[in-house]
Amino acid sequence: MSLKKKYSIPFNKPSLTGQELKYIKESVESGKISGDGLFTEKCHELLQNRFKIKKALLTTSCTHALEMSALLLNIKQGDEIIVPSFTFVSTANAYYIFGARPVFVDIRPDTLNIDEKKIEQKITKRTKAILPVHYAGIGCEMDRILDIARKYDLKVVEDAAQGVNARYSGKYLGSIGHLGAYSFHETKNFICGEGGALIINDDEFMERAEIIREKGTNRSQVFRGEADKYTWLDRGSSYLPSDIVAAFLFAQLQKMDDITKKRNHIYQRYVERLSPLENEGLIKLPYIPPCCETNFHLFYLLLPNKKIRDDLIVFLADRDILALFHYLPLHLSPIGLQLGYAVGDCPVTEDVCDRLLRLPFYNTLTEEEQNYVIDSISKCLKG
Ligand SMILES: *Cc1c(COP(=O)(O)O)cnc(C)c1O
Repeated sequence: MSLKKKYSIPFNKPSLTGQELKYIKESVESGKISGDGLFTEKCHELLQNRFKIKKALLTTSCTHALEMSALLLNIKQGDEIIVPSFTFVSTANAYYIFGARPVFVDIRPDTLNIDEKKIEQKITKRTKAILPVHYAGIGCEMDRILDIARKYDLKVVEDAAQGVNARYSGKYLGSIGHLGAYSFHETKNFICGEGGALIINDDEFMERAEIIREKGTNRSQVFRGEADKYTWLDRGSSYLPSDIVAAFLFAQLQKMDDITKKRNHIYQRYVERLSPLENEGLIKLPYIPPCCETNFHLFYLLLPNKKIRDDLIVFLADRDILALFHYLPLHLSPIGLQLGYAVGDCPVTEDVCDRLLRLPFYNTLTEEEQNYVIDSISKCLKG
């Protein structure tokens, strides 16, 4: 099985909403295609209004938004962050590159999100932040996590890469912690190739976030006429995307409801047609707590064991369908082992990683294609 091969039913297919190229043309014709142009501003306003957030700053990726958060928290050698092992590398790496040690916490077996009951026992004098990851666009137990953060005076940075336009207790993911990070990577719900946003919910970080994003200078203030010359003030880097990228993204964000509706339809169809297999005990479907509204980012199954999961991947690949497992536990990666972690440190994560399978999921997946995927799964599991 190779990722390079073309499958007739691929895992992901980026789709356009119609206005992308028109907006890119407008951006080019505006005469300013570097960062913080016309369309960047439009994206900021749309995100801020729609998600009721104080400040959104487009970035070149979610990884970079997370790096910005580490700079904002002044992360240095010897600091610790609380993070699930069941996540994408960037959640931990964005802090690791500044010298922090990721302290891995296991996940809940139902939502596959960080187990809030296991956080407190991992907090030490060196802990600086908790990084909940909203897996599959389903919210972590944020009320409990914020309580813990208040008790120990920690910052909460939401990795909402997969959670754009999803909610927890009525609040949009990314708007709940001190800071949040979104991804607009091609594989996410709303896309621009490579891109992200840093969400700033705490006034304390407003000014420095702009400076860090503009190479450590106050260039943003100069643009707005709030200062007359710009200079080097802080650590920083170049985290702002070209306005051409923002133009593409704006077309996607404007169609957020349409995209979500399409994904909801696909999601419900998987649930309906796979439920019989769940009732027979052959698979387990995702769980969405009542306080959460998902954005239908991805659809996964949990198989009874690794052998059945791996056989199913091959069975589907033979039928020209690409289904994928997800993370390898970070605590068991070469870096995790180097940090001293070992098998058994996060047992739920280790178990889930062996048994999870993500099904093809994209806005243009047809009913016929989806039926073929579902029938193929049935055939494989029921023999
Ligand atoms: C996709 C993803 C990222 C990285 O996003 P980029 O925009 O590609 O940097 C980080 N964390 C999680 C949980 C993700 O799913």
